[in-house]
Amino acid sequence: MVADGWSTKAAEALAVHPGFRLADLDTRGTPGFGDGKKTGAAITRAIGERMSDLQERLFAEGRTGGTRSILLVLQGLDTAGKGGIVRHVMGMVDPQGVALHSFGVPTAEERRHDYLWRIRRALPPAGKIGVFDRSQYEDVLVARVNELAPRDVIDRRYDEIVDFEAELAKAGTRVIKVALMISRGEQYRRLHERLERSDKHWKFNPGDVDTRARWDDYQEAYQVMFDRTSTPDCPWHVVPADRKWFARLAVSQLVLDALEDLDLHWPSADYDVAEQLARLEATR
Ligand code: ATP
Repeated sequence: MVADGWSTKAAEALAVHPGFRLADLDTRGTPGFGDGKKTGAAITRAIGERMSDLQERLFAEGRTGGTRSILLVLQGLDTAGKGGIVRHVMGMVDPQGVALHSFGVPTAEERRHDYLWRIRRALPPAGKIGVFDRSQYEDVLVARVNELAPRDVIDRRYDEIVDFEAELAKAGTRVIKVALMISRGEQYRRLHERLERSDKHWKFNPGDVDTRARWDDYQEAYQVMFDRTSTPDCPWHVVPADRKWFARLAVSQLVLDALEDLDLHWPSADYDVAEQLARLEATR
């Protein structure tokens, strides 16, 4: 079913298909969605309510022997809005049901292990919605651009990650991969704002300008990542993110649709309800 305001199912409108060219993406676009900001924001709020209900069912399932979970993988260049998505989208559900992990430069301990080691440790337990703010994909993005590993090692990682995600699916984790893509001009505006406003200085990192200087290399690294790791079972969703309201709507809708697909029901009691009611009455 196509949800309110969408002409095409969000997952379909945003999925990377063979032949996708990042260079052709309109980062101010709202693919699949015909309405504007006001309606979009209202729909996002309604999604939040439904998402909250389903998330509780998923949590209940996990508490009663279920093995399923959801993992939202967020990638995007600095200022693309990963933090805003975490705050706005995941803020709409019970925080107890969310497992958030941010992946920065690997620590000394993490470097002693395979790159997937820290990822495996952060996977959501049954019943939870895991959110990765950056992920295993840094090891084919920043690692490729900054040549942090030999090219043949990085080349092997694409297939390894695809296999890893297939493994997760088998174990009951539904992975939703989202790349928030902004334009070069929009990134300039957002970085500039961080420098202009004292309440945003804390968000600015001088390293962001170095990363920005490698813009074309990052675009290429993202393109290769999409080409090699977007599969029919676990596609990338490219979300144009110059308009924050659309990015929030799109990611909320993707998460909601994934929850709906799980066809979640309230677990039935593993005790005799009538008997327990009678016992309770006796204590009145
Ligand atoms: P963000 O930019 O995501 O808001 P931040 O500026 O606060 O976060 P951190 O979260 O501490 O910074 O770290 C993010 C940085 O870590 C990014 O520059 C990212 O490229 C880098 N990073 C993440 N994973 C890896 C990795 N596997 N190898 C090298 N660098 C990595």
